[in-house]
Amino acid sequence: MTEKTIFRKIIDREIPAKIVYEDDLCLAFEDINPRAPTHLIVIPKKEIRSVDDVTEQDEALVGHLFVAMGKIAAERGLSGGYRVVTNCGRDAGQEVMHLHFHMLAGRSFTWPPG
Ligand code: AMP
Repeated sequence: MTEKTIFRKIIDREIPAKIVYEDDLCLAFEDINPRAPTHLIVIPKKEIRSVDDVTEQDEALVGHLFVAMGKIAAERGLSGGYRVVTNCGRDAGQEVMHLHFHMLAGRSFTWPPG
């Protein structure tokens, strides 16, 4: 059996996290090393390693994650805008091999990202 990822351990409540949203399919919590005044991580409870591993069966789940992010943005009043990022693979700097979306807000962001 492969080692659980940090995010799997957060889902299973084996390590603590500041959870800001949860439903049957997904979880959102504060990033431990925030890169903006608001920096949340949004994950499916299903184990999917990265965008590379998303299949047709996951279409509704990925859509659900975006609906959840919209709800979180509305709840938190992110009316000034926010950035949603997913890193996929080595060159993008993916550290945790569990599909996740970063929600960043509270400052201006440059484009293109570094
Ligand atoms: P990525 O580079 O896209 O894989 O991003 C992984 C993110 O997970 C980084 O922004 C980390 O700061 C964050 N992270 C790692 N461990 C934890 C943790 N225990 N709780 C919250 N966020 C974490």
